Amino acid sequence: MSGRLQNRAEGWALARKALDYMEEFNIPPTSENYAIWATYACDQNSELCDALDKHIDEGRAFDPAFLDAIHEKFFSLKRLQDAVMASSGQMTKELGAVRESLRAAHRDQMDYGRALEGASGDLDRETDPDALKNMIQTLINATAKMQERSQSLERRLHETSSEVTQLRSNLERVREEAMTDALTGIANRKRFDEMLRKGRRGFETEGDPMCLILCDIDHFKRFNDTWGHQTGDQIIRFVAGCMTRHAAEHQTVARYGGEEFGIVMPKTKLAEAKVLADKVRATVESKKLMRKSTNEDLGNITISIGVTEFKAGESVEQLIERADNYLYKSKQQGRNRVTSDENADVANAA
Ligand code: GH3
Ligand code: MG
Ligand code: MG
Repeated sequence: MSGRLQNRAEGWALARKALDYMEEFNIPPTSENYAIWATYACDQNSELCDALDKHIDEGRAFDPAFLDAIHEKFFSLKRLQDAVMASSGQMTKELGAVRESLRAAHRDQMDYGRALEGASGDLDRETDPDALKNMIQTLINATAKMQERSQSLERRLHETSSEVTQLRSNLERVREEAMTDALTGIANRKRFDEMLRKGRRGFETEGDPMCLILCDIDHFKRFNDTWGHQTGDQIIRFVAGCMTRHAAEHQTVARYGGEEFGIVMPKTKLAEAKVLADKVRATVESKKLMRKSTNEDLGNITISIGVTEFKAGESVEQLIERADNYLYKSKQQGRNRVTSDENADVANAA
């Protein structure tokens, strides 16, 4: 079978599977629901699959509110992209209309110029008052038409500029969303990498120091197993909040992995980064946590941290690796601690 035919056969099999699931669970056949179940059928998004599997295992019905929430969570980026596409389509139409208005205005301007030229010669020669009155009326009409044309052109240009503003803000929203972690609202791995590269450029061009903090929640698997995934998510949000509270405006707090976080710290020296890391560690440790759904006492949680400063000539990957080694060192030495360039006997291990 050729590659294309094979792809098509696989596509059909997948569509069939998605529809079978929808029938089995009594899912209304909307395009949103199809998107959900096709993604489930091809097993491409583990977070989405886990969410649906959990629902199935618990024997719960798929009500519209649940499906809407799933769609919102996993496909909202697509929705925004659609919004951008729609406004670009409108933009093209709008720009076409502006071009047409400009052409028409240009035509009218030429006619008006000719009318004025003709009239000035005729005015010198003409003595009949009726003919003069007619000529003046013609000029008034031409002037009114020009005025109307320029007003409509102005309106068009105004509409176009609001379309452009709208398009720009849609694009900005999509960009923000693509760089943001959905669970915590902080930066995601993509922005984390981008900010590290930016910090490295700042070091190279301006000589600005840069530090990196990496942090991982201690014994989180145990926590998840005892209290469930949702309470685990609550803890992830809590740690993200503690980090954000302590970090400065120009530093980027990111969710680097599942229960791992980073703070990219441009224009920051090691001593300052260490102080911040320990503040975050102490804040997380000091909070008594309650399970939101039941108010049960969850006890305390702790985090382990690695802190390091960027060194001339190294890559961003080397920086991350060193911070990760220090984090590992903190785990090995009993967790709930900060290891940095200054107290790591694994220094330069990266
Ligand atoms: P350690 O102290 O050595 O870090 O032990 P740990 O149990 O925390 O080990 P590890 O860091 O390897 O555990 C990661 C666990 O985090 C695995 C996974 O179950 C859980 N996890 C990852 N992402 C998420 C998430 O988005 N939500 C929840 N609730 N749990 C997650
Ligand atoms: Mg981990
Ligand atoms: Mg962990």
